[in-house]
Amino acid sequence: MVLVAKACRICNLIISEGNVCPNCNKSDLSDRWDSYILVFDPEKSELAKKIEAKTPGKYAVRIR
Ligand SMILES: [Zn+2]
Repeated sequence: MVLVAKACRICNLIISEGNVCPNCNKSDLSDRWDSYILVFDPEKSELAKKIEAKTPGKYAVRIR
């Protein structure tokens, strides 16, 4: 079984199931994204600030 995770176009969060982003409650998702980063501490991660990640999780770096 191949599970294609989707990424939220609004906040970049990667969602492995469902069609609504649990972070911003929007359904503007894309399955065309490139790489992702794991954010553990949004306060201390420069990359997290760059993509405006506010909660720990898996985020897409680039969404097409
Ligand atoms: Zn979102």
